[in-house]
Amino acid sequence: MTLNILFASSPEDWAAYETPLQAAFDKVGLTTDLRADFPPDQVDYIVYAPDGTVQDFTVFTRLKAVFSLWAGVEKIVGNQTLNVPLTRMVDFGLRQGMVEWVTGHVLRYHLGMDAHINANPGEWDPAAPPLSRSRRVTILGLGELGTACGQALDALGFPVSGWSRTAKSVPGITCFHGDEGLTQALELADILVLLLPNTPQTQNTLNTDTLAVLPQGAFVLNPGRGPLIDDDALLAALDAGQVAHATLDVFRTEPLPLDHPYWHHPNVTVTPHIAAATRTDSASKLVAENLRLSETGAPLLHLVDRSRGY
Ligand code: NAP
Repeated sequence: MTLNILFASSPEDWAAYETPLQAAFDKVGLTTDLRADFPPDQVDYIVYAPDGTVQDFTVFTRLKAVFSLWAGVEKIVGNQTLNVPLTRMVDFGLRQGMVEWVTGHVLRYHLGMDAHINANPGEWDPAAPPLSRSRRVTILGLGELGTACGQALDALGFPVSGWSRTAKSVPGITCFHGDEGLTQALELADILVLLLPNTPQTQNTLNTDTLAVLPQGAFVLNPGRGPLIDDDALLAALDAGQVAHATLDVFRTEPLPLDHPYWHHPNVTVTPHIAAATRTDSASKLVAENLRLSETGAPLLHLVDRSRGY
């Protein structure tokens, strides 16, 4: 039997994914017809990214599951027309990319690299940076990405704390959870990394009150999602010196509008949502594996819990 698979993303994604997805489907031994366009009533599965045009899933009358190419599923998780299983992307490339982006920017702050990169000729301050053991890093979100980043930073010698919704035990990371845990985690954040999903509960996690809990002169990295931060509160904290510098990869509106104060603030670095990109080969393998599992009736990998929103 042939499985009809609709690729519902941008034309650019289709060009990048068509060959690796087809190869991955062939490798798991399933006969598939993969297309970027199908009559809706013939579609068995959808490979999805928010860049595509699919909004109303009710027209897909025989749909069995939706496989998201993105790790963050906030643009689809609340879609009331979707009533089949939804999986999200957990991918080696995504994880490794995030570890590299986070450790790179943590080391930039830790080593004070900007001072030397921007130094004027003749500036000669021989003060060496402290060792990593005296720079505390806190990661909000201890999922696939937050845990991998925390363990990489622990391996570099940083004292790492993390915060999650449920209680956790992760080697090398001091774990906190719940409201009280957030305060404890923030107090330990010389460098704060936001790796929470965007849900109604996580929006504005970093606000006037929580920013005030950070050690004075803390650094903030946000590779999670824009709505995790109350932007006005962060700008005020930057102006007051409560936050020394922020590097932001994600924003409420993307691309970040040209007139946004983040572009022009001397203590903000903007990166254009490039912290971690899904890699087509490894991502295609996960989609194919989930297709195989679905066809055998086995539980899917990385199933989204629609009620908790991630
Ligand atoms: P994940 O595995 O689902 O982990 C999410 C973590 O956040 C979990 O530890 C979860 O707690 C915690 N969490 C969720 N709601 C919470 C709450 N209300 N209070 C406290 N903790 C809460 O997600 P992931 O794969 O690590 O990805 C994290 C996010 O990174 C994605 O959602 C996406 O937004 C972002 N991302 C960005 C890029 C980029 O290029 N910038 C790339 C990929 C992903 P529990 O462990 O208790 O469930």
